[in-house]
Amino acid sequence: MRDINHFIGGQSFVGASGRFSDVFNPSTGEVQARVQLATPDELDRAVQNAQAAFDGWSSTNPQRRARVMFEFKRLVEANMQELAELLSSEHGKVIADSKGDIQRGLEVIEFACGIPPAVKGEYTWGAGPGIDVYSMRQPLGVVAGITPFNFPGMIPMWMFGVAIAVGNTFILKPSERDPSLPVRLAELMLEAGAPEGVLNVVHGDKTAVDAILTHPQVHAISFVGSSDIANYVYQVGAQHGKRVQAMGGAKNHGIILPDADMDQVVKDLSGAAFGSAGERCMALPVVVPVGQKTADELRERMVAEIQSLRVGVSTDAGAHYGPVVTAAHKARVEGWIDQGVKDGAELVVDGRGFSLQGHENGFYVGPSLFDHVTADMESYKEEIFGPVLQIVRANSFEEALALPSKHQYGNGVAIFTQNGRAARDFAARVNVGMVGINVPIPVPVAYHTFGGWKRSAFGDTNQHGMEGVKFWTKVKTVTARWPDSELEHADSSFVIPTMA
Ligand code: NAD
Repeated sequence: MRDINHFIGGQSFVGASGRFSDVFNPSTGEVQARVQLATPDELDRAVQNAQAAFDGWSSTNPQRRARVMFEFKRLVEANMQELAELLSSEHGKVIADSKGDIQRGLEVIEFACGIPPAVKGEYTWGAGPGIDVYSMRQPLGVVAGITPFNFPGMIPMWMFGVAIAVGNTFILKPSERDPSLPVRLAELMLEAGAPEGVLNVVHGDKTAVDAILTHPQVHAISFVGSSDIANYVYQVGAQHGKRVQAMGGAKNHGIILPDADMDQVVKDLSGAAFGSAGERCMALPVVVPVGQKTADELRERMVAEIQSLRVGVSTDAGAHYGPVVTAAHKARVEGWIDQGVKDGAELVVDGRGFSLQGHENGFYVGPSLFDHVTADMESYKEEIFGPVLQIVRANSFEEALALPSKHQYGNGVAIFTQNGRAARDFAARVNVGMVGINVPIPVPVAYHTFGGWKRSAFGDTNQHGMEGVKFWTKVKTVTARWPDSELEHADSSFVIPTMA
């Protein structure tokens, strides 16, 4: 059995906890490796390595740090096929989708290649007589990222790309379900010129996470995962004096107005609801057609579209999506389909019990479609995170607007219409953090910023873009006086100085 080790101080590190987690190949259902689960001492070892690297890395000039990111981008691109295959083998998403996962992360690395102007600070000459004021953005020190299974390439790069480029040193605690790609990324950062200890990978479960949350030398924590754990990380991290941003779960709605281009809607919905087996925080698992005629047409066309979907192993280039991540997750998704039936929704297409010929032990779930779902149903309120699309019929624009606005999650939402005024009104009023207008998966580009509202995000700052730079730095403001030699020395003053 292959062991997946930690990566600490620029080297593979074999832990001694004696605790491991199985890593599956979801396409076949086989256990293909086991990953170490760290002790608090092992986490501390990574922190001490990151601490030792901090002085040198933070005083390396920003342009040189940017050059390391540039070389890292080149190396990831040169190894894209190998990295995507590694990702798919542990996650289960099809290889083209794994390449997209890595590419979206690389776009944040591209942003990080341009980091010097983002940290150059502000300057006011002559804020008072002989007085200049300037501010600088300084890195925080040792910082950490805790990431989910569903984007093992993109989400680590969202975090360490910006955090390291601005001068921090980093501990990454990736998901124990697909931990190999994050280790390869750390190896490539070393190869790109990041000194030993700048990027460390510590595998683990709650024990490792708790050690990060309470470690006195960890100054900031970025978390992405499910909402209850995000809330826990936010509360405990903040209680221990850390800066924390914690992104949680989602239940994104697609609103279909009667004038929408239905051919495009059906294609967009199919990819956004079933792509990556629905295991995306920006998937569209709820569709809200406005008016019964729109709903009837959408339902009929989605049924036909679903019949054309092909579920396959992650290496099948013709498959639209692969298995879900574990047998436990397959059971959970199927449990939510059972719940939808119990709730009284109409199960139009049933993906339970799906079996792929030749891969009967793989963790496959067929596409499912529910109609007549209502806002009071448990299966509507909670995140399913599988290939399940729920139709919630609305009679008016206002009714449709209220659904995502009142839902406990507020990550993303999309509206499909040809009416610019309605789209503009919707974007301004909907109570959700990221909005797509005729864009089914509105993940913002890297130089903008990613983050939801309500139970989809705890903390105030978002991922990447200038929000990321702010999260991973602290501002220092310097007020300097260089009086004219001809000026008399000022007397002592016992009132607060002003520039008046
Ligand atoms: P998860 O919450 O199970 O795990 C996330 C991380 O927390 C992992 O590193 C895991 O090891 C750790 N963890 C697990 N249990 C823990 C515990 N009890 N205490 C402390 N840490 C623990 O999430 P997941 O299943 O890996 O990922 C799917 C979830 O992530 C979904 O809810 C999805 O919506 C969400 N997600 C959100 C975003 C976003 O940006 N809002 C992006 C991607 C995924």
